[in-house]
Amino acid sequence: MDIFFYNTLHKQKELFKPIKESEATIYSCGPTVYKDATIGNMRTNLLSDTLRRILKYNGYKLKHVMNITDVGHLVSDGDEGEDKMIKSAKEEHKTPLEIAEHYTKLFFIDLERLNIQTPEVVCKATDHIKEMLDMVKKIMDNGYAYETSTAIYFDVSKLDEYGILSGIDLKNQKAGARVDVDPEKRNPYDFALWIKAPENHLMKWDSPWGPSYPGWHIECSAMSTKYLGEEFDIHTGGIDLVPTHHENEIAQNKGACGKIPAHYWIHGEYLLVNGGKMSKSLKNVYLLDDIIKKGYDPLTYRLFNFSCHYRGKLNFTWEGIESTSASLERLREGYQNHLNGTEEVPDEVINDLENRFHKAINDDMNMPLALSVVWEAVRYKNKSKKIAELLKKFDTVLGIDIDKAKKTEELPQDVLDLLEKRNEARKNKNWEESDRLRDEILEKGYIIKDTKNGAELQKKA
Ligand code: AMP
Ligand code: ZN
Repeated sequence: MDIFFYNTLHKQKELFKPIKESEATIYSCGPTVYKDATIGNMRTNLLSDTLRRILKYNGYKLKHVMNITDVGHLVSDGDEGEDKMIKSAKEEHKTPLEIAEHYTKLFFIDLERLNIQTPEVVCKATDHIKEMLDMVKKIMDNGYAYETSTAIYFDVSKLDEYGILSGIDLKNQKAGARVDVDPEKRNPYDFALWIKAPENHLMKWDSPWGPSYPGWHIECSAMSTKYLGEEFDIHTGGIDLVPTHHENEIAQNKGACGKIPAHYWIHGEYLLVNGGKMSKSLKNVYLLDDIIKKGYDPLTYRLFNFSCHYRGKLNFTWEGIESTSASLERLREGYQNHLNGTEEVPDEVINDLENRFHKAINDDMNMPLALSVVWEAVRYKNKSKKIAELLKKFDTVLGIDIDKAKKTEELPQDVLDLLEKRNEARKNKNWEESDRLRDEILEKGYIIKDTKNGAELQKKA
């Protein structure tokens, strides 16, 4: 079945035609490992994971590369401020290497908890200094870069077109429209490929221009070329990367070999919190850990992401997580009901569900639509193993462990005793005592749900 992706490069949905017939090559901009990854960062990682799973569902072999930025990403996405790794190292009284190792480890723990598959190649910037330097030299030899007293800059005026991803119109940019801190820069949009290290700079390497370190953008051009070649199929990242990082990546590749590296550029929108930006000052920066600490299965957050298309802004609220948690439980229960079912379901019904799910995921990863088909399957009136099998197949894309059976948790004896007393009190219509016992049980961390089968206990979230 045909697959369509919205390609930022051409601002339209396009039929996916990979370079090789049965293999898809992908490069994803990975984390800068200087702090904890937020649930916002994880939204972007869930996008590349969903892409992977959809391509696999369609039978593609994958070569997916993700970088780890452990040098060169300055505090502003332009060329200003301190290196984020060094700033964090100073604040935490550690070395940049210790910072990188610590936050890389935490990052991968989060990926695992979200069932995000590890790309075939994970590569660190600091392991590729030689490749980066070679590329800068090539760009320089081709006449696209120049040296100043502080850095090697890419000269955007040498390109036939700069700004094709974001549609910047260089001719109509007023001088000084962009904050321009380096008077030696020839054009406001020129950016640093390589930066000369001041004395005592923590991370620096020998180069033809003395002790220095890479700019942020060169790592992605150098590593994608090394592992995927000058041209590959898909490049992913967050929407914020379009106007600077990805624009500059394209410029570098064109300067080095004359080609735009990826054929399809896929960008994910931001996660908002309570309708606004996540920020430290608003104290609304959430980590996956915060969700887990409240007692939710981390895959609740994965399912929550499918409530919105990746190109739309997704608004995080705790109410949203609470209702998604109930949905996750219902999907898993629904799966178990089908697994234990013995009723008939016509093949046409299975084929129709499969077909509509497939169409939805292939239509620019329309997960909300795909999820509505999953619910139809779960709710199908006749319970059958055939539907359970279909749901397992869908879960290769969803990754929500739909076959995870509910844990029947051992309830503490003192809570069970209290429940017994409450049942007794209710039988005797002693409502006051019954309410008092309910509150006592609540204090011990359990909620009583009165169901048609009698009172049941549920652990407080
Ligand atoms: P940062 O470490 O904050 O620079 O973020 C790394 C990348 O994660 C960014 O370049 C974005 O692509 C992505 N990202 C950060 N915050 C969010 C968010 N709220 N929603 C979606 N993606 C985000
Ligand atoms: Zn990148």
